[in-house]
Amino acid sequence: MSKSHPNPQDPRLTVAAAREHLLTTLGPVAGWECVAIRDALGRVLSRPVIAPFDVPAHDNSAMDGYAVRFEDLAGDGETALRLVGTAYAGRAFSGIVGAGHAVRVMTGAVVPSGSDTIVVQEVTRVEGERVVVPPGQKRGQNLRRAGEDLARGKPALAAGKRIGAADLGLLASLGVAEVTVFRRLRVAFLSTGDEIASIGNPLGPGQVYDSNRYTLHAALSALGVELVDMGVVRDEPELIEHAFRTAAASADVVITSGGVSVGEADFVRELMARLGEVRFWKLDIKPGRPMAFGRIGDAWLFGLPGNPVAVMVSYAQFVVDALLRLMGVDPLPPRPLFEVPCDDAIRKNPGRREFPRGELYPGGGGWRVRLAGNQGSGVLRSMAEANCFIVLDEACGNVAAGDTVSIQLFDGLF
Ligand code: AMP
Ligand code: MG
Repeated sequence: MSKSHPNPQDPRLTVAAAREHLLTTLGPVAGWECVAIRDALGRVLSRPVIAPFDVPAHDNSAMDGYAVRFEDLAGDGETALRLVGTAYAGRAFSGIVGAGHAVRVMTGAVVPSGSDTIVVQEVTRVEGERVVVPPGQKRGQNLRRAGEDLARGKPALAAGKRIGAADLGLLASLGVAEVTVFRRLRVAFLSTGDEIASIGNPLGPGQVYDSNRYTLHAALSALGVELVDMGVVRDEPELIEHAFRTAAASADVVITSGGVSVGEADFVRELMARLGEVRFWKLDIKPGRPMAFGRIGDAWLFGLPGNPVAVMVSYAQFVVDALLRLMGVDPLPPRPLFEVPCDDAIRKNPGRREFPRGELYPGGGGWRVRLAGNQGSGVLRSMAEANCFIVLDEACGNVAAGDTVSIQLFDGLF
């Protein structure tokens, strides 16, 4: 089958095409609620927040020093000004700064009326009732102007913004106690496989413990979605169908792992196609080639591969941004790539995008990357040791030791 003419029965997509498909198909869930700002951390604004007043509300001093009238200062020598009072942050000077006067000011104090310039304390000298200011001051220096951060009536935060620490602080600085956010996304997830045991049970012959449900639990918790853990489902079509129907009836998104290949016991894709609709399932990617995306009823469905590393790669490259879009995040966060030299040679066939795991570390006066351990798609240890993906795109062939490669940090993905 030619890559350039995908067979609709067996579509193969590039990573970019699959992402494009997902991100153009998905949009924010309907439904919103008002929450106190502390509870808004990680949530997404469904309405902009408008500044109710100027920030800062008044012209104020950016430094500890003296408020003066610029016109009083000599251009070429020292100027002695008479001290007439003090302005503290939160306690303004009540008088007016007249000709030849100065007022002692603290950082954050409202600029005393009549003055237009702040001279920093360090350059001045106090002589009794007078302060001596050296030449070379600039009109309007060391002031923070009213409305400089934010003008009243302007959007302080846009709809689609996911609330982080700085946003919480900004909201508080505006006196905003509550915000309107999209309702929490409900995500059901389950593992499939006869060989998959849940922790707490002894391992039978040929069994492995379920790790995918735990990596997914961790990644989804970090996203702040509502979790519906549906456990392990055995490779029996009736059981998987029942789990799918139950999950799809209650969740916005259903994420499964395992059973999406073409093995004898791989029922996920077939069931998705029967119960709903499959949008694609073969990607030019390694690891993580088989992945189903589709719909059952009102729920979106992601059928991830079974191999633990493949699960994390598919999650990072497709699922996380798809979920953010469903959560209402707009624009999506950038996923920057950085170019660094790679210590190790990497075998790579052109034609697909590969995501070996790497460890970015400081070395030789800059940052470098090295392969993190065994790169098998079932070897989670290499993921645990790594802090980035090395991203080798479709056109790339073998990498020689010392070549420059692109890396994508795990931060913000898991
Ligand atoms: P599958 O795609 O179902 O054939 O699974 C591929 C490989 O991933 C097999 O070796 C499975 O045992 C393994 N695997 C599948 N699901 C899990 C899981 N939840 N936790 C750990 N390994 C898994
Ligand atoms: Mg399986």
